[in-house]
Amino acid sequence: TIQRPRSEQLYAEALEHIVGGVNSPSRSFKAVGGGAPVFMKRAQGAHFWDVDDNRYIDYLCAYGPIITGHAHPHITEAITRAAANGTLYGTPTELEITLARMLKEAIPSMDKVRFVNSGTEAVMTTIRVARAYTKRSKIIKFAGCYHGHSDLVLVAAGSGPSTLGIPDSAGVPVSIANEVITVPFNDLEALSVALETFGDDVAAVMVEPIVGNFGMVMPEPGFLEGLCRMTREAGALVIYDEVISAFRFHYGSAQTYSAFPDHAATRPDLTALGKIIGGGLPIGAYGGRKHVMEQVAPLGPAYQAGTMAGNPASISAGIACLEVLQQPGVYERMDAQAIELASALQGSADKHGIPLTINRIRGSFSAHFCDHPVTNYDEAQDTDGERFAEFFRLMLDQGICLAPSKYEAWFLTTAHTSEDIAATIAAAERAFAQM
Ligand code: PMP
Repeated sequence: TIQRPRSEQLYAEALEHIVGGVNSPSRSFKAVGGGAPVFMKRAQGAHFWDVDDNRYIDYLCAYGPIITGHAHPHITEAITRAAANGTLYGTPTELEITLARMLKEAIPSMDKVRFVNSGTEAVMTTIRVARAYTKRSKIIKFAGCYHGHSDLVLVAAGSGPSTLGIPDSAGVPVSIANEVITVPFNDLEALSVALETFGDDVAAVMVEPIVGNFGMVMPEPGFLEGLCRMTREAGALVIYDEVISAFRFHYGSAQTYSAFPDHAATRPDLTALGKIIGGGLPIGAYGGRKHVMEQVAPLGPAYQAGTMAGNPASISAGIACLEVLQQPGVYERMDAQAIELASALQGSADKHGIPLTINRIRGSFSAHFCDHPVTNYDEAQDTDGERFAEFFRLMLDQGICLAPSKYEAWFLTTAHTSEDIAATIAAAERAFAQM
């Protein structure tokens, strides 16, 4: 197996200077038994090299943005060109118009767009805009959906759909949690109760239309249509958080995905974006119906600003990334690889008597250690974290890099090769045999 003395040494050093040794808690190995996370020093295509010169096949893909693989030449060239022209102006640029047009063409519910720096900012602002537009204050969200780390969305389920939330994080005031109602995903009945109870106060219903944060979970047939209809009847806005899902499954958003053919019935008022649209550099964006977006300063009373927003490097990387994704066949190829990998994993787990539930949505999938379907957060929580931790370590020690969480997806990229897939299947077979 792989040895990582230098990662261990750097982790000890990082702990002295960086809180928890990591700059995002999801990077720590806390959920998989602790210890030093792997310190990477280089990435190319579907591969990582750590500080001990071990090579890994990457399925973490930076939690989603790296869909073209690392250091894709077209994106690298765009970033290099942007850097040479100056990285930040504090003025508008033509590049921003180009990326805004590309987003609008792919996501027709976005009449107007605004760029920000992260998914968190994008989501946070859609909530402000919805509140400004409706002059109401409460939001309804779904248990287990992650919408970044702003106060309002760090609120977990109360005891039922007609109760208010409790803060999920210290530092979030109860008064803010009182503005949030959490209901189970895929449960229109619970949504209807929540809307009946709080309807006149609800500014928006916020959802990951295709979930990426407690596994990959599709909405059941009719769920998004029902959600949109009921929300509108209550006079509230529909916000899609597509920070993970946009451009992940096809060139577009959930709103234009072939799984939901009635695009008018699943059309949101506002959409939050991030990750892929920045091609690996920091970005977020939000957009929606013209009248709603006109709430935003300088046109309207809802304030939102950003020193780094729309910076030429992030925008250039985003344009280049979308250009790569426009090439014919890229999604089909990722699909085919995900199908091959997921079915081999399932076969291998079955052979060794290990319960495994794979939810695959085109080129990405989640693999939960359980023997029941995963359609909502309760079912995702009720999966075997210890088994996942064991599998995670056995894979890592064979040079396969997954996210250190039982909830996270495996992401394919345009850079994974058939050799990568074969090596991963062989590693998983050895891991399951050992478990
Ligand atoms: N929304 C969703 C659906 C996400 O998956 C994430 C990040 N994982 C965010 C929002 C927050 O994005 P960021 O980390 O860029 O702030």
